[in-house]
Amino acid sequence: MTQTENKPEVNDTPLVPIEKIVSLCKRRGFVYPNSEIYGGVSGIYDFGPMGVELRNNIRRYWWWSMVQNHDNVVGIEGAIITHPRVWEASGHVENFVDKLVDCKKCKRRFRIDHLEPENLEQHKCPVCGGELTTEPRVFNLLMETYLGVVEGDRMKTYLRGEACQDIYLDYDNVLKSSRVQVPFGICQIGKAFRNEVTPGNFLFRQREFEQWDLQFFVHPDEMQKWFDYWKEFRYQWYLSILNHKDRIRFREHAPDELAHYAKQAYDIEYQTILGWQEWEGIHWRQDWDLSRHSQYSGQDLSYTDPNTKERYIPWIVETSGGVDRTFLNLLLDAYEEEPDPAGKEPRTVLRLNPMLAPVKVAVLPLQKNKEELVTTAKDIHKKLQRLMVSQYDDVQNIGRRYRRQDEIGTPYCVTIDFQTLDDQTVTIRERDSMTQQRIAISELPMYLLEHVSFK
Ligand code: ATP
Repeated sequence: MTQTENKPEVNDTPLVPIEKIVSLCKRRGFVYPNSEIYGGVSGIYDFGPMGVELRNNIRRYWWWSMVQNHDNVVGIEGAIITHPRVWEASGHVENFVDKLVDCKKCKRRFRIDHLEPENLEQHKCPVCGGELTTEPRVFNLLMETYLGVVEGDRMKTYLRGEACQDIYLDYDNVLKSSRVQVPFGICQIGKAFRNEVTPGNFLFRQREFEQWDLQFFVHPDEMQKWFDYWKEFRYQWYLSILNHKDRIRFREHAPDELAHYAKQAYDIEYQTILGWQEWEGIHWRQDWDLSRHSQYSGQDLSYTDPNTKERYIPWIVETSGGVDRTFLNLLLDAYEEEPDPAGKEPRTVLRLNPMLAPVKVAVLPLQKNKEELVTTAKDIHKKLQRLMVSQYDDVQNIGRRYRRQDEIGTPYCVTIDFQTLDDQTVTIRERDSMTQQRIAISELPMYLLEHVSFK
């Protein structure tokens, strides 16, 4: 039913089991289960010291590419709680549902849109072969909450089920306050909440997660041009941060998957141990969202072209992806256990793109009992710290310290040795190749900045 482009070549490196990433994330402070001391909550996670750095870098790189580097794109940050009518206008109150069937034998639950056609037709459980229930049960994914304190006067509303609705709500304010003209875009990164009935696979399907969206407003005659532009731009963006460039592809939505207003839609998919899975959607939304909000709010959201005076509701190209899926996919893409030539423990290395790595440089005195080495190393670390995330480490031998940094993806380790005291040079070790070169301390900041900045 579906059509794919950019068919991947055959992979030569094995796909990484999710359990390896879960364990690394816990061990090295990337991700922890939320409320773990109380037994945890399914589908909700916290980010630790390394995780928050990586996440911030991922977000910043997206913002840098989408907002900072496009003259016709601006950003907003909308609220998580909105007026409840928003979710009626958007169709979520009525249609934001998952349909589930249960296996009578093993009691597992399956979303019917995730079942293979033969399992669906034969009512056969894909795991144990048992019989599936025939009538799907329907669950709305919106998370309810209440505003106000007086019982009876409290207003039921929802935590936003998708972040992008705020962009439509603020569209008119942005237009009137930012000197933008169609064609232009509004970006936002923000949390979304869904009562997922089948949360799981670590960060892949959570109940609280983060999305990034662009809504790009165009004249209807220019819709195809901008749809093609953003489709390609987003694909290249993901390529720019991946090592395994053969594990990403487009999947075009089949006609029976398309919303009634959509001429076309594509998912950008990534291949992991879970198979090919959606990472981001590129959607043709026509004038659906602004028309619905005009209709439900009674406000005119049409646009008047300042030159031609033509009045119309702009059409929208949407690109909507997940910060958490990016976080997970990048870890799966970067993780490698490299055999040790001397037959010792394999080297675990995160080959993250240096511009996204949580720590950019580790500064290591060769020995911790030599005061001059320690003082020089601390001094270098203090100077670098003002420019980028730097870690000072003098615990255990230098080999172990390199390994620790490899495991969190630090692209550069700077070692201060006895020669440093004579000639003011240090060694700089590169994570992936493990090659080392000597460099003057005075050149270090510029060298590192060049290698870790967004490009
Ligand atoms: P799926 O079919 O996997 O449920 P979706 O089509 O409902 O996803 P969208 O509503 O288009 O997803 O959301 C845009 C992006 O948000 C997705 O491409 C994905 O990266 C991310 N996303 C959606 N649901 C979740 C979730 N439960 N946990 C983590 N990320 C999610």
